[in-house]
Amino acid sequence: MNDAPIRQIVIAGGGTAGWMAAAAFATLLPPAYRISLVESEEIGTVGVGEATIPMIRLFNQALKLDEADFMAATQGSYKLGIVFDGWRVPGERYIHAFGPVGRDLGLIPFHHYWLRAKATAGDLWDYSLNAAAAYAGRMSLDTPPANAALPGISSAFHFDAGLYAAMLRRHAEARGVTRHEGRIARLEQHSESGYATALHLQNGMRIPGDLFIDCTGFRALLIGETLGIGYQDWRHWLPCDRALAVPCEGVAAITPYTRATARDAGWQWRIPLQHRTGNGHVYCSDHLSDDEAAATLLANLDGKALADPKPLRFTTGMRNHQWSHNVISLGLSSGFMEPLESTSIHLIQSGISRLLAFLPNQAIAPAARTEFNRQSAFEFERIRDFLILHYHANERPGPFWAACRAMRIPDSLAAKIERFRATGGISREADELFTEVGWLQVLLGQGIMPTDHHPMADALNDAELADYLATLKRLIAQRVAAYPAHNALLATLRRA
Ligand code: FAD
Repeated sequence: MNDAPIRQIVIAGGGTAGWMAAAAFATLLPPAYRISLVESEEIGTVGVGEATIPMIRLFNQALKLDEADFMAATQGSYKLGIVFDGWRVPGERYIHAFGPVGRDLGLIPFHHYWLRAKATAGDLWDYSLNAAAAYAGRMSLDTPPANAALPGISSAFHFDAGLYAAMLRRHAEARGVTRHEGRIARLEQHSESGYATALHLQNGMRIPGDLFIDCTGFRALLIGETLGIGYQDWRHWLPCDRALAVPCEGVAAITPYTRATARDAGWQWRIPLQHRTGNGHVYCSDHLSDDEAAATLLANLDGKALADPKPLRFTTGMRNHQWSHNVISLGLSSGFMEPLESTSIHLIQSGISRLLAFLPNQAIAPAARTEFNRQSAFEFERIRDFLILHYHANERPGPFWAACRAMRIPDSLAAKIERFRATGGISREADELFTEVGWLQVLLGQGIMPTDHHPMADALNDAELADYLATLKRLIAQRVAAYPAHNALLATLRRA
């Protein structure tokens, strides 16, 4: 590498990852940067990935996307959480709702008060505005004043990932990103340093650059195939390795949540959009054949299938380093975890923010690269633990679920469960993606009930606590009753 400023960024691949990166760079970087993107229509994209988490709002805001335009362009709907159907035992469900549960009464989290009163306090989710709105099929974009007794709804989106990528492409090209169509044949590297210097396409074109972003999906053409950065296989913890995805006719009332239904050897997703419903069956090929998986999927749709099921194979895990030399991987090339908590698109987003935070001006400092890789791995590993919890803490029948119960889990997760069970306390480091209240809902939903609560929850007397809880429930019910139906809100946006 010479000491010239790093100003030419080349993005290899134009799936969700490639176009999110291109749109973000084109919007946020100064005009001196030149951004190019290569993609191959012949190869295509994964094209599933339709459920998100609330942080996606920050990405859309950074790009200044108008919400009504975005919802119309992507056939989007709102998502208030994920309903887990049958994950602890068949026939029982819980929701991982976004936003808070309850209101903190001082120094300790709300759930300790609920634990103290749980014999009479009802369900934990009675104290979640998001859960109540999701089950009622209602949604509001109103923001209450800061001093209101309850905060507003916290929402994410369901959208058609192909339409989202197309929208981002228009956004990026309008801001100067150059798109090249063609197959990448090879990466040209500096003979001594091994740093990437250019992409060569099969059509003979050479695209030089200073920094290369590998968004080539599961192929990981630059970071994996060319630079040889290995991959950690996590299938011993998350054994599902295949998925079938199929859209079907939509339903009249669009539910504002993702549904994840446990099946004999995996689970099925249901993601309602405006024009159709997305469905998929994620399963473990050691326990279920492809034909059996397809039959289960097709037998559990809302309406007529609109295509043949699309098969996908994957190895859950993570790239050993997401940044090597001057190549940074984003999206599926950096790793894959099944969409149980809708984290892949978020990992692209946080990879882009981290990359912008660490963007080198001239030479790449090895210490910066090391820290980037440490933060990326930490984020992946904590999400991995959260997903394992859904599988491990189950009481379902069948050999697949028995094997999940029996598996040895990462020490970091085992310690979390042990502390929660004994004290109700949730250990969480500041940089983890999932909040304490997210962990709380899945721990309880999977049947892990603490045997104690924090002693400070005893500060209120029984009557004060009962009154507080009853008031909270009433406020939530009143608020939700005043919200429009989700469909009505979508219709209002279409008219905006
Ligand atoms: P891809 O979509 O595979 O794009 C790769 C790009 O690289 C394409 O443009 C391709 O043409 C190009 N390319 C590859 N090789 C070459 C070459 N030689 N020359 C030129 N171009 C090349 N995420 C969520 O957040 N929520 C979900 O609900 C969700 N559900 C999912 C369900 C399943 C079953 C799977 C597998 C994934 C899901 N995801 C989900 C993940 C999400 O789909 C991906 O994170 C997202 O699509 C990003 O993919 P990508 O852009 O990295 O790769």
